[in-house]
Amino acid sequence: MTDLSTSTSGAQRLPIRPELAGLEPYGAPQLDVPVLLNVNENPYAPSDEVVADIAAAVAHAARGLNRYPDRDFEALRSDLAAYLLAESGVALGPEQIWAANGSNEVMLHLLQAFGGPGRTALSFAPTYSMYPEYARDTSTEWVAGRRAEDFSLDPRAARAAIAEHAPSVVLLASPNNPTGTALPLDTVRAVLDAAAQVPGGCVVVVDEAYGEFRRTGTPSALELLAAYPHLAVSRTMSKAFGLAGARVGYLAAAPALVDALRVVRLPYHLSAVTQAVARAALAHSAELMAQVGALREERDALVVWLRARGLQVADSDANFVLFGLFDDRRAVWQGLLDRGVLVREVGPPGWLRVSVGTPDETQAFKDALVEVAGL
Ligand SMILES: *Cc1c(COP(=O)(O)O)cnc(C)c1O
Repeated sequence: MTDLSTSTSGAQRLPIRPELAGLEPYGAPQLDVPVLLNVNENPYAPSDEVVADIAAAVAHAARGLNRYPDRDFEALRSDLAAYLLAESGVALGPEQIWAANGSNEVMLHLLQAFGGPGRTALSFAPTYSMYPEYARDTSTEWVAGRRAEDFSLDPRAARAAIAEHAPSVVLLASPNNPTGTALPLDTVRAVLDAAAQVPGGCVVVVDEAYGEFRRTGTPSALELLAAYPHLAVSRTMSKAFGLAGARVGYLAAAPALVDALRVVRLPYHLSAVTQAVARAALAHSAELMAQVGALREERDALVVWLRARGLQVADSDANFVLFGLFDDRRAVWQGLLDRGVLVREVGPPGWLRVSVGTPDETQAFKDALVEVAGL
C-alpha cells in the first residue's frame, strides 16, 4: 500500500496522526465464497413478511426524507425497551436506551464520552479486536489484561487490574468474541464494585452482542442495571436479529449515562430510514427469536460433533464456536476456503472460529474439515 503520509508525488504531505501512519483499515476478508461462516452473521435472510414490512416502513419514511429525522429516536427507544423486557425480563424506560449505527458506534460514543487523552480503557484478552481501535481513535490509552486458560475471567485478577490501572472505561464482552465465553454475574459484580472504587469514576461496558444466544441459565447483565449506575449493557441487531446490513446497535444504562452519550453523538446520527427499518424488524421479534432457538441447538450440536472428533472446543454461549488446536491453523483455514467454506483465523494461536450457519452450511463445514484435518 502507498503510505500517503510520506508520498512525495503530491505537493503536500498529509498531516495524518502519527499513531495512524501506515495502518490498514480493520475488517475480515469479504470473499465471494459459497459458505460464509466467518463474521457471525445470522445465516437466515429476513422472511418475505419481514421484508414486506421493512419495505412499507421505508416507503413511509421516504415521504418525510426532506426533514431531518427524530434526533432522539423516541419511538425506536421505546420499542427496544419493550424488546429487552420480552427477551430478558428486565423492565427499562426509553430514557435508559441509546442506539447508533451498529454497537460499534455505540461503543465509540462510550469512549468519546468517558475515555480521551490521559484516560485508560481496560479489557481482558483474547477479546474483540475492535476495542483497541475505539481507544486509539479517541486517544484513550489501551490496556489489555489476560483471561484465564479456559477464557474465563478471574474476578481477583480483574479487580487487581482495575486497581492498578484506574481505567475510566472497562470493556467486557459477554458472551466473549472470539471465545464464546459468558461471564457469571458474580464476576461482573466484582468488576463493577472494583470500578466504583476508581477515584475519577469508571464505566463498565458489558458487550452482549451475542446475548440472545446464551444458554439456558446464563443470565444477562441487564439484571444488574438497577443496582449499578456506572454499568452499560450493549446489544446489537446485527447478530441474533439477522440485520447486520441495517447497522443498528443499542445499549441500556442509567439515564445519566445515556445523557452523556447524547452530548457526543453527531446530530441526527440515526437516519429516518435506519429507524424505520429497525422498528419494522422489532415488530417481528417473536418470529426471529424462534430462529435463534434453532441456531442455539445447531451450535450445541456442533460443539458435540467437534469434541467427538477429538478437537478442543471452548464452551460457547454465542452463535459461533472456537475450536482447535492446529499446529498450522493457516493451512486448515486455507484448506476449508479451497473447499468453499470461509471461517475466521482469529483468537490465540492454534484456534479457528466458525459461525453457526444453516444445517446445510454446517454440513459443508463438517465435510470440508474432515478432509482438511483428517478427522
Ligand atoms: C459483532 C460484534 C458486535 C456488533 O457490531 P455491530 O456494530 O453492532 O454490527 C459488537 N461486539 C462484538 C464483540 C461483536 O462480535
